[in-house]
Amino acid sequence: MERQPTIPVTWDRQADVVVVGFGAAGAATAITAHDAGARVLMLEKAPKGQEGGNTRVAGQGYLYVSDVDKAIAYLNALCGHYAVPQDMVRVWAEEVHRNNDWLKSVGGDPQEHQHQPEGIEFPDLPGSDSVHKFHDGPIVGYSNTWKAFARAVHERQVEILYETPGVELIQNGATREILGVRAEQDHRPINVKAKKAVVLTCGGFENNQEMIRNYLPGIPYCYTTGTPYNEGDGVRMAMAVGAELWHMNNYAGPSMALKVPEFRTTFPMRPLGPTGELPGGMIITGPDGTRFGDEKRRTSHGKVKVAGRWGPLSTPCPMFMILDHTLFSTGPLYNKGAASGWNPLVEVYDWSKDNQAELAKGWIKKADTIAALARIVGQDPRVLEDTVSRWNQHCDVGEDRDFGRTKMLNPIKEAPFYAVELSPSMLNTQGGPRRNEKGQILRPDRTPIPRLYSAGELGSIYSYLYQGTGNIGECLAFGRISGRNAAAETPWE
Ligand SMILES: Cc1cc2nc3c(=O)[nH]c(=O)nc-3n(C[C@H](O)[C@H](O)[C@H](O)COP(=O)(O)OP(=O)(O)OC[C@H]3O[C@@H](n4cnc5c(N)ncnc54)[C@H](O)[C@@H]3O)c2cc1C
Repeated sequence: MERQPTIPVTWDRQADVVVVGFGAAGAATAITAHDAGARVLMLEKAPKGQEGGNTRVAGQGYLYVSDVDKAIAYLNALCGHYAVPQDMVRVWAEEVHRNNDWLKSVGGDPQEHQHQPEGIEFPDLPGSDSVHKFHDGPIVGYSNTWKAFARAVHERQVEILYETPGVELIQNGATREILGVRAEQDHRPINVKAKKAVVLTCGGFENNQEMIRNYLPGIPYCYTTGTPYNEGDGVRMAMAVGAELWHMNNYAGPSMALKVPEFRTTFPMRPLGPTGELPGGMIITGPDGTRFGDEKRRTSHGKVKVAGRWGPLSTPCPMFMILDHTLFSTGPLYNKGAASGWNPLVEVYDWSKDNQAELAKGWIKKADTIAALARIVGQDPRVLEDTVSRWNQHCDVGEDRDFGRTKMLNPIKEAPFYAVELSPSMLNTQGGPRRNEKGQILRPDRTPIPRLYSAGELGSIYSYLYQGTGNIGECLAFGRISGRNAAAETPWE
């Protein structure tokens, strides 16, 4: 028997629609439900100033599609063997097509990204010319689009409880209806009544190492460049009331980045970023001291094509970026000026200009010889020496004969030498409770759990390949769908 939480005798708070999580999906849901006449209460786990989730620190692009039928063809092609029901695909396309009008209607200013053709991630797939990446206002980046969503929420009478994570859904054991949410404030439980419905918009499981190990392919652990507050709570809450899960093995990653115990999220490294050519030598090695790929390879949100099939980039952990003093001397190894990510935008960590502070902290290791460096990072000195000398030979002839790398073909030769441990890193997970075209969360028999909806990356529609800006585009689309349908429910008393 599934355990059912007892229906509380007293309710501490109440609203028509309770929205759990204040990112793009929560914002679109709250705005829509409010404008449809519902009283809306939002629960947010993060403290005020750190709400917004991945949306707050994203690249700020959202998807708009100019042609519904072409967009349907494109999404079907992205899903490939992992097909998604056609009624879902159609409402996704129809709603994403309305994203610009909606943003205008809430006071925003939709602007198309420049360099549009580069933004189409899979130009060879059918319908790709329907893809358009938009943002709010004249400048892309620095949380601008998020600010437009947040402003539209704050202009409305939507109550927001910060530092109040939703913990458990309150379900009527007989009818299976969702009646509210048990949340926590100052570590004390509060019961929040939802007279019409609960909408889960609390993001993915980017910070839940157990779920990462269980669900994401090929990685023993992974960290995020996004919010530290998405810990799979929505997955857990939905499972506890009988939801089916989908797309749990799909994620926007991996890339490789530095993760240190002092910070919750990852630091993107400048030599691996879109920097073009930097002087000095750099390779990445796996635990056995050998290289495993083109370190400068661009991926499609973590996926690479191997033998004609897309799959996650291989990341044999622990991995080390090995570099020489020439590269070390070019400035911060951290991509400090990144326009997205939690550490650049929220923590605003001030990495030293000469990397000396991070060397002193032990984030960067240093040795006079490659063999000594290998011993520090636990690799076989002879193997690492061979790897570096082979790399240097590739550089001498101007051709990486092992992996065909074409950028930064510079030898690792100027001592001292340095190593930075890299971890698999991701933007976001796509999996979560399965939803239908009305935004309702489904049971394994595909019937809806009454009065329970979702939107956003928690149970996203993206099952395999991912088109950049698709996540926020989908947050807006399904936020509106779920907000509309939640507000249209008849109150349960
Ligand atoms: C660096 C980076 C760049 C990206 N760039 C883009 C881009 O340009 N375009 C794009 O489309 N996508 C981008 N993505 C992905 C995109 O940002 C996310 O998938 C999307 O913003 C998710 O929105 P959401 O509302 O579903 O979740 P989020 O925006 O993550 O919001 C979830 C909210 O729920 C809160 N929460 C978590 N647990 C609980 C709980 N138990 N109770 C209450 N609240 C809870 C969190 O604190 C958070 O505020 C990027 C991601 C990253 C990390």
